[in-house]
Parts: sequence; structure tokens; C-alpha cells
Amino acid sequence: MGKEETPKTSGETILVSACLLGLPTRYDGKSKRSQDVLDYLQREGLTPIPVCPEQLAGMTTPRDKTFFQSGDGRAVLAGKGAAVSEKGRLMNVIFCRGAKMTLEIARLSDCRRALLKEGSPSCGVHRVYQGENKVAGVGITTALLLNSGMDVISEEDLK
Ligand code: SF4
Repeated sequence: MGKEETPKTSGETILVSACLLGLPTRYDGKSKRSQDVLDYLQREGLTPIPVCPEQLAGMTTPRDKTFFQSGDGRAVLAGKGAAVSEKGRLMNVIFCRGAKMTLEIARLSDCRRALLKEGSPSCGVHRVYQGENKVAGVGITTALLLNSGMDVISEEDLK
């Protein structure tokens, strides 16, 4: 058997939305595996730390779809916005728990940046959903990571 080559790494860690890495963590039980993300991590020699804030918060998979009724992640952290499930349940507290858990993992794994899934109420970086409408804004986890000084990009920034 031939020797396997050890991939080169820069030693730098980066938080990555687990669904982008191919894990079936989404509300609908599916993944959003992105070859662009995998290629980027390899090219840059980054060590991905997979996180799913909604699973870290203790939510089941699959779970109800959630969107913003008002505001975005920044507004929720400021006590002004509202994230609600498709059944009309207010989700602010549990989504904030997932954001805090994710920040804790970033600290424990020495991540200074994150690559998160666009459009998600937790992970969105440039836009989120208010009902069926896409609006400019960030997810709740993204807002907390940005507040802590981390750089956050989405898979769409790699194109
Ligand atoms: S919370 Fe983030 S990591 Fe988890 S499934 Fe949604 S977009 Fe992916």
C-alpha cells in the first residue's frame, strides 16, 4: 500500500457551518455540502471546526423552520428583533443559546474567523429571511461572533 500524503495545513483553525461540510444538520435534515468551501479550506490549509449552532442549542434535527418576524440577529441580541418558528413560537432564547455555545467553541479552538451558511437565521452573513423575503442582515450566531471581533464570511464570498 502506498503512503498517504499528509495534507499541508497553516495550523489556523476556522469555524465552519457543519451543513456546508456535508453534515445533515439543517432544519429539514439535509446538508448543504459546498465544494467551494472544501476547496477553499484545502487551498488555504485551514483546519475546519464544524459547528451547528441550532444543534448546539439542543434543538432536534429535523426541526421547525425559523425566520425573523422583525429585525435580524443584531436586533435580537439587542432585545429588539424576533425569530419565530413556522408554528409561531418565539425562538430568540434558544437561538441565543446556540450562538453562545458556538462562541465558546470558537474560543476553545482558537478560531478568529468563521465561514458560515448564507441566509440562515443563525448563520446568515449578508442576508436572512423575514418570512419568505430575503432581507439584508445577519443571523444570531453571526451577530455574536462579529461582536466578539471575529471575521465572518459566507460560502457566497468565495465565488
Ligand atoms: S444552524 Fe447553521 S450550521 Fe446548523 S444547519 Fe443551520 S446553517 Fe447549517
